[in-house]
Amino acid sequence: MPADSQPASREKPSPAAAPAAPGAGLSAVQRALRKLGLVRDIDFALYLPMRYEDETRVVRLSDVRDGEMAQIEVAVTSNEVVFRPRRQLIVTVDDGSDTCQLRFFNFYPSQQKQLAVGARVRVRGEVRGGFLGRTMMHPTVKAAGTELPEALTPVYSTIAGLAQPALRREVRSGLARARLDETLPAASDWQPAWDLRRSLNFLHYPAPDVAMATLEDHSHPAWQRIKAEELLAQQLSQMQARNERAAQRAPVLAREAGKESLAEQLLAVLPFALTGAQRRVGEEIGRDLAREVPMHRLLQGDVGSGKTVVAALAAALCIDAGHQCALMAPTEILASQHFGKLVDWLDPLLRSRGLRVAWLTGSQKKKERDEMSAAVESGEAALVIGTHAVISEKVRFKKLALAIIDEQHRFGVAQRLALRGKADAGLEPHLLMMSATPIPRTLAMSYYADLDVSTLDELPPGRTPVVTKLVADHRRDEVVERIQAQLQQGRQVYWVCPLIEESEAVDLRNATTTRDELADALGEAVGVGLLHSRMPTAEKQSVMAEFSAGRLHVLVSTTVIEVGVDVPNASLMVIEHAERFGLSQLHQLRGRVGRGAAASACVLLYSANEGGRVGEAARARLRAMAETSDGFEIARRDLEIRGPGEFLGARQSGAPLLRFADLATDTHLLDWARELAPRMLAEHPQLAQRHIDRWLGTRAEYLKA
Ligand code: ADP
Ligand code: MG
Repeated sequence: MPADSQPASREKPSPAAAPAAPGAGLSAVQRALRKLGLVRDIDFALYLPMRYEDETRVVRLSDVRDGEMAQIEVAVTSNEVVFRPRRQLIVTVDDGSDTCQLRFFNFYPSQQKQLAVGARVRVRGEVRGGFLGRTMMHPTVKAAGTELPEALTPVYSTIAGLAQPALRREVRSGLARARLDETLPAASDWQPAWDLRRSLNFLHYPAPDVAMATLEDHSHPAWQRIKAEELLAQQLSQMQARNERAAQRAPVLAREAGKESLAEQLLAVLPFALTGAQRRVGEEIGRDLAREVPMHRLLQGDVGSGKTVVAALAAALCIDAGHQCALMAPTEILASQHFGKLVDWLDPLLRSRGLRVAWLTGSQKKKERDEMSAAVESGEAALVIGTHAVISEKVRFKKLALAIIDEQHRFGVAQRLALRGKADAGLEPHLLMMSATPIPRTLAMSYYADLDVSTLDELPPGRTPVVTKLVADHRRDEVVERIQAQLQQGRQVYWVCPLIEESEAVDLRNATTTRDELADALGEAVGVGLLHSRMPTAEKQSVMAEFSAGRLHVLVSTTVIEVGVDVPNASLMVIEHAERFGLSQLHQLRGRVGRGAAASACVLLYSANEGGRVGEAARARLRAMAETSDGFEIARRDLEIRGPGEFLGARQSGAPLLRFADLATDTHLLDWARELAPRMLAEHPQLAQRHIDRWLGTRAEYLKA
């Protein structure tokens, strides 16, 4: 085996990232470096500055205009600590052309000493004009007369415990050590003008005469090269994952002859006919399941588009073929809410075949769980529903062939591996992921190159669109009137409180206060419930059950109800501090109403910040909510407001994002990468592997997940 084919050992851990002695703990700096993902030399080399400082020149103070950043060399003429209006060090300096005051609010004795009268220092900062003469606030101070650097000084994004100068040193040495040999075969339409080594050296230490705008907008040839490399790595890794999957085998789920089909029976008991989109997607899934290559499909459909029925249909196809299906949701409350109906439909049909549905959750009593596990192991439980506990625990399936995951855009590595062990030896289960936060098709194609995507682009008939109203927070009273009007018609209401990320305790307090206030305002006859993520699962479930049964009329909650909850009698959704929510989250929340035949409304309460204004992006989000209720249009606007990196980031956890390239604007580079990647995998597999390893390293596994 040529050395070339062992990529994992190629990129060595950087000495900076390794403990001083084997077995020794990590230092604070090492821990900080790891947090930034800086482990191997190449990681340091690819850690690019967010901006630069120009320390290459010393200028005359008299040539500097107010408001400019400048580096000057000066003599200290006075130095005093004053206490009014607050304690500060004021130093006067003179460079022969003009004088200037340096001010420090926080300073060490060592700084005071460095700035003793008569000292010569090199000072860098923003020069401000002013009533009392020119000033620099908190400039950086160095000894004068040392050699000036030839390149701009990089400024890296850092975290607590890792000072900029230390990080700079680590990156510099990582860059010097990293192997930056060529991995791109000379091919395809676009030829990068710069090679990798030159590009990285330049981006860390640009020549001072560079057109700064080309670094900022990433249009510089060095940036083009880096972005092309990154996009290529992403495409290679996903195409590789797809190829690997093509070589894997899954159970072929074809209907066993001679039995009445569960799928047909299911369609007969449904109280409605499938939409065209549901039928089409059902067929797509049916075709996948009948193949011996594992299905790896994302089903996207707006809230309320009817994904659950499609899941039930897929499960029926699997069970018809004599196998087991696992159905999972991120939380217990969701699992029970989501799949309640599906169980109603399927369980009687299964019972008549001597089969059943099993529940598996973390909070289950041991006795019940043991009983369920036994049913799973014997194969009697043809359908197993629950949280991810279904696959991550020591549950043994008799014949698992299909795993369906709701409200998940992507399945994590650990979960995928757990799944692998659940099917028959040597076989991989089919995988269906369902997501209510659609990703625009073009983005899905390049971002999820390793997934097949099905889309429910049609809502079931008879829905009345939800009317969305923006209401300023000081008009809360009117909202209470609206609530009363709905309650009088026998309808129910959700009231969602904002998430305050720092503390669940604060969230709870806010939600509790709101509940109390609403209970006061609405009077005793109205049942106002509270749902919060801190509550024990059993309590959450009982509150949900009370609300579903109509015994609670108003449900105040934090965002626990965001996904999946289905109470068709609820006709009004109030979202407090709507300006703090993300667009797709608002859309998800709004999707909790308008599920029945009644006309429904969503009130977005917003409050302006201290300046009396709602931020630009927040305003764009609220406007989008008022203007459209189409999930795909919402996704498109969300993408526009946030840009692809953040957009996908909000939809992913654990998977790496593109750090440099932008799928929306770097289309020519993306086209190049998509064209080159399959050829590179076929003709230069070792270069391809090296390239993936260089860019994604251990994270490559995540992208494939
Ligand atoms: P989601 O895609 O958000 O998971 P659900 O599967 O919960 O949507 O479906 C939303 C509602 O629409 C449910 O009450 C479901 O029973 C109903 N539904 C699904 N498909 C149809 C259909 N073809 N015709 C009428 N109602 C449907
Ligand atoms: Mg759903």
